[in-house]
Amino acid sequence: MPTVAFLGLGAIGRPMAVRLALAGHRLVVWNRTAERAASFAAEHGARAAASPADAARGADVVITCLPTSREVEQLLDGPDGLLAGLGDGAAFVDCTSGDPATSRRIAERLASHGVPFMDAPVSGGVVGAEQGKLTVMCGGDEALLARVRPVLEAFGTKIVHCGPVGAGDALKAINNALLAVHVWATAEGLAALAKAGVRADVALDVINASSGRSNASMNLFPERVLTRAFPRTFRLALLDKDVGIAAGVTREQRVPAPVLQLTAELMTVARGALGEVADHVEMVKLVEQWAGTEIR
Ligand code: NDP
Repeated sequence: MPTVAFLGLGAIGRPMAVRLALAGHRLVVWNRTAERAASFAAEHGARAAASPADAARGADVVITCLPTSREVEQLLDGPDGLLAGLGDGAAFVDCTSGDPATSRRIAERLASHGVPFMDAPVSGGVVGAEQGKLTVMCGGDEALLARVRPVLEAFGTKIVHCGPVGAGDALKAINNALLAVHVWATAEGLAALAKAGVRADVALDVINASSGRSNASMNLFPERVLTRAFPRTFRLALLDKDVGIAAGVTREQRVPAPVLQLTAELMTVARGALGEVADHVEMVKLVEQWAGTEIR
């Protein structure tokens, strides 16, 4: 079994690391807030590293799962940085939903140290991570993917080679832009229907048997909006970041994309209104506020 270092025990990183521990990997964890790594290590028989360099030392595969590519890049340098600990033969897998340009820059820097890099953002949410059923979108060498696939299989069931470095990031960003479009547009539609006298459960029942359905209408609205539970599993701030990346991909490729550009703007407005800890589905509350009604 390879030794795996996992850095970033956040909402999704933690259950991914749990799956690695359950699969029997020798696991080293590092987290910016050290107590989280210490309690994880005590609970799951892993080693809590003192620094990113300490985590990388002796690891066969280093996995990061941080908010953005910027935090991953910042972890590379300095005496405590990842580059100080990464050894010959190590592989670097970034499960952050990152941005393609920064991933390509990180890949170049690592290559100059003889370390191959793959962007490997995931989808499936916290529940998918807990169940080990994530989809993993890989950008990089196919040979590298073949090498790290047994490690990724601890938390992923659908592990897809998407293209060169940055391709996983691009695909993940577009996927999440579609998520944002669906949540926002479904909220607009249900708010209008509420004012027209149609109950949300009746509307969703019909939509989910018809062509307007989506994961938002089938799962997110029934489980999180109609119940008013709004559990905090995926921060709106992170979705704002993702849709911004997606809008950047369309511009970079010179594809006119007014819907995705507008959605990126809406996510930034919603993040400003609802704050850094709000869940992504809470954007519905802003639509409700604008409409002067509640979706029930
Ligand atoms: P969280 O905000 O819950 O956790 C972020 C993690 O990054 C924490 O471990 C945090 O440490 C660490 N961190 C934050 N800033 C820094 C920094 N400057 N230096 C070092 N570490 C830092 O995020 P998630 O776990 O939800 O998301 C992680 C990534 O996965 C994101 O890119 C997100 O878009 C993606 N993702 C999330 C999903 C979800 O459902 N939550 C689903 C799919 C992808 P600390 O404990 O100290 O705060």
